[in-house]
Amino acid sequence: MLLPPPPATPVQTTEPYHAAWPGILVAVAPSPPRRYRWRAPVPPCPAAVSAVPQESLMTTPPLREHQIRPADHAAEQARLYAKDVARLMARSAEFVDVNCPACAGPQRRPRFTKYGLAYHECAACSTVYVSPRPSPSVLKDYYENSENYAFWNAVIFPASEAVRRERIFRPRVERTLELAARHGLQRGTLVEVGAGFGTFCEELLARKAFDRVVAIEPTPDLARTCRARGVEVVEARIEEAGLGETADVVASFEVIEHLFEPAEFVDACRTMLRPGGLLVLTCPNIRGFDIDVLGAGSPAVDAEHLNYFHPDSLGRLLTARGFEVLEAQTPGRLDADIVRNRVLAGEHTLTDGFLQRVLVDEWDRVGESFQQFLVQQGLSSNMWIVARRTAA
Ligand SMILES: [Zn+2]
Repeated sequence: MLLPPPPATPVQTTEPYHAAWPGILVAVAPSPPRRYRWRAPVPPCPAAVSAVPQESLMTTPPLREHQIRPADHAAEQARLYAKDVARLMARSAEFVDVNCPACAGPQRRPRFTKYGLAYHECAACSTVYVSPRPSPSVLKDYYENSENYAFWNAVIFPASEAVRRERIFRPRVERTLELAARHGLQRGTLVEVGAGFGTFCEELLARKAFDRVVAIEPTPDLARTCRARGVEVVEARIEEAGLGETADVVASFEVIEHLFEPAEFVDACRTMLRPGGLLVLTCPNIRGFDIDVLGAGSPAVDAEHLNYFHPDSLGRLLTARGFEVLEAQTPGRLDADIVRNRVLAGEHTLTDGFLQRVLVDEWDRVGESFQQFLVQQGLSSNMWIVARRTAA
């Protein structure tokens, strides 16, 4: 299929490019005049998006963005993040052009730009990705010397850990155990890749949910925090962890979107799993509500996130790398609140009367049900995918 030529100037909106595509009619843009966004057709997903059980939706109280991103430190964090991004972009001459991280396809069109980075949409599978992107050595330097992460470590995380533990990590443990049970996994060894502060592993240990819990965390400060919590730590990159085929479950939360080469990461996860073992990944869903509505204005679109999969495209990547995809869910809690907050702050204008009613005028009455609808229909911007390592 021939695609429209790349634009001569940087793109700030998706509309003109989507409108030029043959494909499936998926959404109605502002009216009048009525316009439509078109998207490339996507091959069938290896596993259908599965519904999140109704009971687990109804028993959990709503989560709000301010609970996990405390406003007190927002200005300082934004300042440090801007310094980090400036440091990253100062090395843009070392950035590397890449093909689609999900299907390796070379054809793409611009989706948006942000921070001077170019985000493209793959013509074959609709994954969105940054290209050219920071090389592995630039990324290593970025994370090792990030002032934003140092501030997180010292200030924000301690200030928000209690609520994060309650509202993010415990539900994460519950969901992981539920998946392991549903798919008949032994509770032998669980390995978490990119364990960060170790809260998830600590919660698992407290639950005695697995015989052995291992955290892979290459950042020295974070590895120290994990050890202080009594978690077994391998302080290395996943490729150098040397654990062999030991794991019943490999879990990695919000990591794959940061990586230069996601396929290599999937391979490295596979080498740690016993045949039949389970891989549990979470990441942003580019087809989710807040990213779809806000585009580059979504907080999920940042300079550190290089890969924006959706359930179909991540499923295809896993299938191609020796996994059978068992299920995908989008259990995010924050989409509607995130869009509402940008609207209330004047950062985003709703041109759709229906969304104005749902997100603002009748928020107290229908906001939470709307979020639950997004979750149940696979339309949230937070995605979980579960795959089983094949024997071969
Ligand atoms: Zn692709």
